[in-house]
Amino acid sequence: MAIKAEYIWIDGTKPTAKLRSKTRVLPNADKIPTWGFDGSSTNQAEGHASDRVLDPVRVTPDPIRGGDNILVLCEVLETDGTPHVSNTRALLREVAEKYASQESIFGIEQEYTFFKGSRPLGFPEGGFPAPQGGYYCGVGAEEVFGREIVELHLDRCIDAGLAICGINAEVMPGQWEFQIGPVDALTVSDDMWIARYLLYRTAEEFGIDATLDAKPARGDWNGAGAHTNFSTKAMREGYDAIITACESLGTSQEKVLEHVNQYGHDIQSRLTGKHETAPWNVYSYGVSDRGASVRIPWQVEVDKKGYIEDRRPNANVDPYVVTRLLINTCCEALEK
Ligand code: ADP
Ligand code: MN
Ligand code: MN
Repeated sequence: MAIKAEYIWIDGTKPTAKLRSKTRVLPNADKIPTWGFDGSSTNQAEGHASDRVLDPVRVTPDPIRGGDNILVLCEVLETDGTPHVSNTRALLREVAEKYASQESIFGIEQEYTFFKGSRPLGFPEGGFPAPQGGYYCGVGAEEVFGREIVELHLDRCIDAGLAICGINAEVMPGQWEFQIGPVDALTVSDDMWIARYLLYRTAEEFGIDATLDAKPARGDWNGAGAHTNFSTKAMREGYDAIITACESLGTSQEKVLEHVNQYGHDIQSRLTGKHETAPWNVYSYGVSDRGASVRIPWQVEVDKKGYIEDRRPNANVDPYVVTRLLINTCCEALEK
């Protein structure tokens, strides 16, 4: 019987790319062909020669449609087969290949915020909820908003076979987190984009918008980040490599800005030095320090091996970009 294949890709919207998808009916899942779309409607082409190619790179069961239906994550190519400029996955492929022997792995914590209309879910009409304090990992109707969506999203991520490893309610009402990892750079990033797709689609069924905005509510409310946990084989085996990696991220102000400028739109509004963040333009690292740019978890200091957490990436960061930058900077330093 014919199946439905949902082709998913990342568009060219600036400053933050968006997900797009469309459905193709196939005789079966044995052969998943390349496909095309109109790049002039997705900020991926100017008027005339606007055909762009969808090249399937990761196929999973479709947990929304069920049955034999599938999700097909794609890279966007030009018609001559070269990567389109918006295709950040192609850049990651090269860098991951170059430093493959260091066996980098990642866990990304995706924070996000539900909106109903123009207000975060749980914010009363025309007013504000009780200040932050009880919402993080909260239990009960006073604290928790949207759990039925979150639970359905988790089930769907598991059913799709994604490397999802946990969820929790976050510091602001209507704010949540899921974590993908620990797996290699391409897998964590592909799975993150598919998990984002499932999040938007699941929330859509409830008439709720899920947003990755870095600072969804102005004022004394936490922003939304995508803490990126990173290790190489050497870091998983010894502490010197942990320190080398931390130091490499702060060798110069250019290095600091190279990362921060590509860690997601509106990062200055989130990395203010308040709300468990470090100022965006000042690099620091420390053990157990949630006010540092990069945190060495206390267990890692005890064990003298493990991983580091870059706390700077915004919720709206492109995982293909943050993993590429971390591999490039840290693996280059570790190679010496
Ligand atoms: P916290 O909220 O305390 O920062 P989380 O439990 O939300 O921590 O996230 C920790 C992340 O670290 C998980 O996503 C996990 O996949 C990742 N992780 C664990 N071990 C490693 C490792 N050796 N290398 C890279 N990431 C790791
Ligand atoms: Mn977390
Ligand atoms: Mn964290």
